Amino acid sequence: MNCQNIIEDTYTYIKSIENKGNVATYIPELGKVDPAHFGVCLTTNDGTQYTAGDANTLFSIQSIAKVLSLSFALSLGDKSIWQRIDVEPSGSAFNSLVQLESENGIPRNPLINAGAIVVCDILCSHLKEPKEELIAYIRDVANNPGIHYSETIAQSEKSNGYRNFALVNFMKSFGNIKNDVDQVIDLYFHLSSIEMTCCQLSKTYGFLANGGKQLITQKEILTRSQSKRVNAIMQTCGFYDEAGEFAYKVGLPGKSGVGGGIVAVLPNSYTISVWSPKLNERGNSYRGMKFLERFTDTTHETIF
Ligand code: GLN
Repeated sequence: MNCQNIIEDTYTYIKSIENKGNVATYIPELGKVDPAHFGVCLTTNDGTQYTAGDANTLFSIQSIAKVLSLSFALSLGDKSIWQRIDVEPSGSAFNSLVQLESENGIPRNPLINAGAIVVCDILCSHLKEPKEELIAYIRDVANNPGIHYSETIAQSEKSNGYRNFALVNFMKSFGNIKNDVDQVIDLYFHLSSIEMTCCQLSKTYGFLANGGKQLITQKEILTRSQSKRVNAIMQTCGFYDEAGEFAYKVGLPGKSGVGGGIVAVLPNSYTISVWSPKLNERGNSYRGMKFLERFTDTTHETIF
């Protein structure tokens, strides 16, 4: 069976089962998204794409973008990053504050909110115009000048982002935020507001399946060793307190977002993205997880 057939068969099967869970409503704008959306796109390392459903509809990639801000910070060569952020799975919710107290304001990893906020602080220290330079970097990685922040989503997050304000202030009290908290959190909310389609997403993250090099152009986004490390962090920390479950069921490094998107990578082979807005209790896409589990169970192509 070829790749397109497997994608279509898996899609049809998952669409036929109950669409469980709830759309994220703590960011009011996300609550307005039609829960019936469901899209998939697989991009192989030669740039070929296989799709099903709403693969070309824009959605809010949310925390999936934390991988790109991390890549940007790594490419700037800041030596302090691994003193200020750990690389251990948190086993806690994405927006949890509890571990920061006993760990002196050092977030467990760069893919939970606290860690991504420190990454935004590092970017603010290095960049003159952090918001403009971050989106320019992401456009460059995506090889697409049309990628944008959603001002509506960013403002919606800000209006209800009490936990994220708490996180940035709490870490500032430990000295782990160097810049003005308002500037740092504004960058974080904009990072979370980026929109992409499934096809743009799997193409953009293709560098992680390609030893750090952009697909087709082979331009270096990360070194091979940095790319290995980002994949390792996605594998262990990409799904918060469900990272073990994702590794166990899917067997690929991946990253989710509360917009219902997931991107997953098979190094040296392909990148796949799935989008379905309803989330399970851990804040990960219900259908997205089910789709990827069935997909890798069918292809047997995983890192294990
Ligand atoms: N912007 C969201 C937040 O900070 C991102 C969370 C996510 O996608 N897991 O709450």
